[in-house]
Amino acid sequence: MTTQPPDVTPSFGLRPAPSATRARDERPGVSGLAPGELEAWAKEHGLPGYRARQVLDAVWRGRQAGFGEVLTLPPPVREQLGEAFRFDTMAETEVRLTDGALTEKALHRLSDGLLVESVLMHYPARAGARERHTLCISSQAGCAVGCPFCATGELGMERDLETAEILDQIRAAQRRLAADDKHLTNVVFMGMGEPLMNLERVLEAIEALNDPVRFGLGARHITVSTSGVVPGIRRLTALGPQFTLAISIHAARNPLRDVLVPLNRRWPVEEVVAAAREHAQATGRRITYELTMIEGINDTDADADALAELLRGDLAHVNLIPMNQVAHTPWTGSPASVVERFAERVRAAGIAVTIRFNRGTEIGAACGQLAAEHLGQPTPAVVQRRRERIVAQSAAALRGERTSEPSPIGAGEGGRA
Ligand code: SF4
Repeated sequence: MTTQPPDVTPSFGLRPAPSATRARDERPGVSGLAPGELEAWAKEHGLPGYRARQVLDAVWRGRQAGFGEVLTLPPPVREQLGEAFRFDTMAETEVRLTDGALTEKALHRLSDGLLVESVLMHYPARAGARERHTLCISSQAGCAVGCPFCATGELGMERDLETAEILDQIRAAQRRLAADDKHLTNVVFMGMGEPLMNLERVLEAIEALNDPVRFGLGARHITVSTSGVVPGIRRLTALGPQFTLAISIHAARNPLRDVLVPLNRRWPVEEVVAAAREHAQATGRRITYELTMIEGINDTDADADALAELLRGDLAHVNLIPMNQVAHTPWTGSPASVVERFAERVRAAGIAVTIRFNRGTEIGAACGQLAAEHLGQPTPAVVQRRRERIVAQSAAALRGERTSEPSPIGAGEGGRA
């Protein structure tokens, strides 16, 4: 298990709930409904159109915990709504404070018992910069990509989240903020899962976020991160500038990226960067590249130079994030001096670089750790076998040998994006 920050309160009481332990609640989550769908439902039930607006208002601006508390609606309508929809798809949520209460990690239990995480980070106002509240959300329960430095990757894939399950992570955070008269300022799809493998629902969620009638968050305040689903990136390019695109690059050399981001075996890094470049050219929006830095693995001068060469001349910004240690890997985060040196070499190629020493580890490699904690730890023998496999794979990659293991995403699956 990972080392915990000293101010963590070990208070999570959610029961371990692996998949297939509960029947899934088939009622759609109400937040996943577009205004037109809600109006159609109201009409179908003989209700005036303003009832749909009252429901939207309660869902997106209210502090109620269920339809029963929406007192602007008559009791029979509340009952009808409760029979048709779930007011909140988060069956249970527990919050853990870290980082001197500047970070809130939420573990959400879904109706079928699966666990997903969201992380709310508070950035106090500083000279020239306003106060910000950024939420990192999950798009899938588990993840098929299987990056070895990520706790979610170790959990494997469970299922795609529904649109409402994505949005209700945001509503839960907004309710907590509203209690202190604060508002969510940024949303990043960088939690559990690969957003572009659940693209339809992610796009529906972004539409709801953008919609002034619903959440009303500007496109510039939304970031979608991908480990490199090329067809999905192209699809986003065709849609135009809707949000910031981030690429989890982690290595610029294919043998190493095959190991660190197994999706690279399907779409090599040059293809990913080419698709991202087209996106930047078409939308005029700078691409963010995230690189989790692992000591002695992807933090060498050769890695910095390969990254600089790959991105030279592009509309790009690189975020360097020292790895947050996870139990099943033998790796640790790169020391500060190494990260600084790496940053300087990339900057020398004219590329903007930001180092995220503190808060970055709270979202990137840290995702999935709470869920993993609840689902029980693998035995020491299993951990040892995984570590040996990772050491062998990364040693071969560092010699420049590409792995012969297949991509975690099967042929044809990329079409879902
Ligand atoms: S880093 Fe992202 S893409 Fe990779 S396994 Fe974790 S959640 Fe999936």
